[in-house]
Amino acid sequence: MKIIFSLLLATLSLIATAQEKCGTVAHTRNMIKNNPDYAIAKEKVNAQTKKWIEDHPNHSEKTIITIPVVVHVVWNTNAENISDAQVESQIEILNADFSRTNIDKINTPNVWQGIAADCEIQFCLAETDPSGNTTTGITRTQTNETSFSMNDDPIKHGSDGGIDAWPNDDYLNIWVCDLTGGVLGYATMPSNSIGSIDGVVVGYKYFGNSSHAPYHKGRTATHEVGHWLNLEHIWGDNYCGNDQVSDTPKHEQDNYGCPSFPKSSSCTGTGSNGEMFMNYMDYTNDACMNLFTNGQKDRMRSAINLYRSNMLTNNCDGSVGVNEHTNNKRTLVKIVDVLGRITTNSQTNIPLFYIHDDGSVEKKMIIE
Ligand code: ZN
Ligand code: CA
Repeated sequence: MKIIFSLLLATLSLIATAQEKCGTVAHTRNMIKNNPDYAIAKEKVNAQTKKWIEDHPNHSEKTIITIPVVVHVVWNTNAENISDAQVESQIEILNADFSRTNIDKINTPNVWQGIAADCEIQFCLAETDPSGNTTTGITRTQTNETSFSMNDDPIKHGSDGGIDAWPNDDYLNIWVCDLTGGVLGYATMPSNSIGSIDGVVVGYKYFGNSSHAPYHKGRTATHEVGHWLNLEHIWGDNYCGNDQVSDTPKHEQDNYGCPSFPKSSSCTGTGSNGEMFMNYMDYTNDACMNLFTNGQKDRMRSAINLYRSNMLTNNCDGSVGVNEHTNNKRTLVKIVDVLGRITTNSQTNIPLFYIHDDGSVEKKMIIE
């Protein structure tokens, strides 16, 4: 009897594993097990986050935070070597979703329109690489590996057939590859101890606008970047669990497909509007998702301030803090045009010269 029972349990847990759409929780569990520094730092995150939000009641006033992104395309077959256009479509989706300019925002039920957030977070493909050179923000690596598992993060190591991260203080690293294990993607959640595996991994079929319905509208990356900015799953990874966000209703568990509104819940504290299955931090279909809440925005912006603070000064136009960090800590003195007139980096389509205190000069042109 005992044996039958444990076999049944094993079968159940296999089913549960196969259904898991996002690998972040399992990956985080693994990091906690294998990295004592991360485990200690991670334990403090919720308290630090709560305190930061309390101490900064006006933080949500208009200030757009811009995050430079490097997308590492690691490919074995041609299909995995996704096009620049595909990558750019993902950046556009992230920008729409994090600024609430997504065209499907009208699908958010009226009862939640008022708490649906413009997170004031934007993303751009990096224009300067860690050596200070101009870049498209996309790296391409041909590999002998036919697929990548989440365990031990081989995708994040050149020695394992992947590619090493760019400095994670300055860039959001996103790896795109053939990801195995039944997950569409996974992310590392922030803390004071992050390390070189920091970033987001997304299966190539689900990156940007693709033909792989129902996960074809780039919401896998939206969800994973949410984790990267410290959001938990909306059901709190427990039955009626706590996602550490006060304006999201309690959920029994993860939702799949696209339920119809209102979807009731047996949890205490869900409220009469039911579960917010259209939140990006649920597991519903891409076409079903359409919002982050104000509470989630608070949590994400606190995460940037606490753990990813270089992103507060980075820009998309090539004047990222990267130069100062990687080139012997040089500092930008001024930007001049071809006639030597001092200017700003807001000028587009003309060559500009970036003069640094170590005497180095870089010529850049921001093309729009
Ligand atoms: Zn997730
Ligand atoms: Ca909640």
